[in-house]
Amino acid sequence: MADILVKGGHVVTMDPQRRVFERGSVAIKGDKIAAVGKEIKEKADVVIDARGKVVLPGLINCHTHLSMTLLRGVADDMPLMQWLETKIWPIEKNLRAEDCYAGALLGCLEMIKSGTTCFADQYFYMEHVARAVEEAGTRGVLSYGIIELDDPKRRESELRAGEKLVKAWHGKADGRVLTMFGPHAPYTCSPECLAKVKELAKKHKVGIHTHLSESQDEIKQITEKYGKRPVEHLDSMGFLGPEVLAAHCVWLTEEEIRVLRERGVKPVHNPVSNMKIGCGVAPVPEMLAAGIPVALGTDGAASNNTLDMFSEMKFAALLNKVHKLNPVAVPAASALEMATVNGAIALGLGDKLGSLEVGKKADLVVVDLKKPHLSPLHNIISHLVYSAVGSDVDTTIVDGKILMRERKVLTLDEDKVLREAQKSSDALLARKEDKK
Ligand SMILES: [Zn+2]
Repeated sequence: MADILVKGGHVVTMDPQRRVFERGSVAIKGDKIAAVGKEIKEKADVVIDARGKVVLPGLINCHTHLSMTLLRGVADDMPLMQWLETKIWPIEKNLRAEDCYAGALLGCLEMIKSGTTCFADQYFYMEHVARAVEEAGTRGVLSYGIIELDDPKRRESELRAGEKLVKAWHGKADGRVLTMFGPHAPYTCSPECLAKVKELAKKHKVGIHTHLSESQDEIKQITEKYGKRPVEHLDSMGFLGPEVLAAHCVWLTEEEIRVLRERGVKPVHNPVSNMKIGCGVAPVPEMLAAGIPVALGTDGAASNNTLDMFSEMKFAALLNKVHKLNPVAVPAASALEMATVNGAIALGLGDKLGSLEVGKKADLVVVDLKKPHLSPLHNIISHLVYSAVGSDVDTTIVDGKILMRERKVLTLDEDKVLREAQKSSDALLARKEDKK
C-alpha cells in the first residue's frame, strides 16, 4: 500500500535512460518514490489523477537569494557594480530578521506555485530563511552570505555567522534543510577569508556556494588586485573543488573551463540575471561539451525578476542559441537536464534528487497540459521548456508531502504571505529613506 499514487500521466522520469511513460504512474511511500512505470497495481491512501498532465521531477533552482523577493522591481536597468553599490547594498544594510523571514516565505510560496522543489540560497538572517523552508515544506540548501571586504574583524564575525548556520540547521526539518558556506565572491572576500571558508567547509563536510566571474568589472578588479583572473586566482590558493557551487561563470577562457572541469567545480547558469544586468553570456555549450554538469538558477528576484524555473529553462536554451547563432547550442532536453539532474549533482544530491527513480526522494510536480498554449501535444520536453510557465504547475510534492494540490497551497496561507511581504518591503524601503 502506497501513501500517494500519481496516476495516469505522462511521466518524464529524467532517469539515466531518460524514459518517458505515457499513461504512467508514480507511487510514493513515506518520503521516497516506491515505484515508477506503466502498470502500477498498488493501492494508495491518496490518488492524484494525472490524466492530461505531465509528472516530472521537481525543478532545482541552484542559485538564488530568496529574501530578495522583497526587492523585486525596486532597482532595474543598471550595471552590476552600480546596482549593488548604490541600490542593493544600502537597502540591505537596513534588513532585519523579520524582513528576511517574510521575503523567504514569499519566495517559498512562489517556488511551490511554479514547480521548484529545491533551491540553493545565499543571503542574510538565514536561520529565518530556514524557518520559512521548514514551514513551507520545501527543500533548501542554505548559506550565509559572507562579505568581509578585507577587514580582519569583519572576517571573524562573518565566518562565525556562516558556521553558526551550518551547526544549527544542517540536516534539520527532516533533512529538508541542508547548509553550505557562502563566501559572496572573490571581490568581496580576501584570500585569507576564502582559505578559512575552505577549511571550515571541509571540517563540517558541507559545500561552498559563491559567485564567480560574473561581470567584466569583476575580471578587471581581480586581475588588477591579484594579477590573475578570478578562476586562476581561486585555483592558485587551492580553493576550487567538487564542493564548490559557482554561480554565473560568465567570463571564462578555454583554460578556465578546463580548470573548472578538472577541479569538479559546479557552475550555475543564470541566463535571465546575466541578460538583465547586461553581464554577458556564459559559455554553456562549451562547459556541457566538456562534460561539466552545468546547473540552472534564477538568481535573486531583484535581478530576474521572478523565480520561475520554467522561464529560466527557456531563456537558457534561447540565449545560448542566439549567442552562438546556432539553434542546437542548448537544446530543450539539455535545458531540462540543467534544471533537474544537473541541479541535483551540483548540490551533491545526485543520488537523492533530480529524477523519478525508485528510492529517490519523492520531490515531484504535475503540470496541467489542458491549456491553449500547451496544445496540441507532440513533444512533451518541447512543451515543458518552450511553452510551459510556472503557473501551469498544478500539484507540487516535496519529501512525500503534498504542498500544493490543484493550485491550492496547503502549507502556507497565501493571502497572509503576500500581505506580510508587502508590509515588510514597505518598511524596509522606508527605513532606507530615514537614513538619508
Ligand atoms: Zn547571486
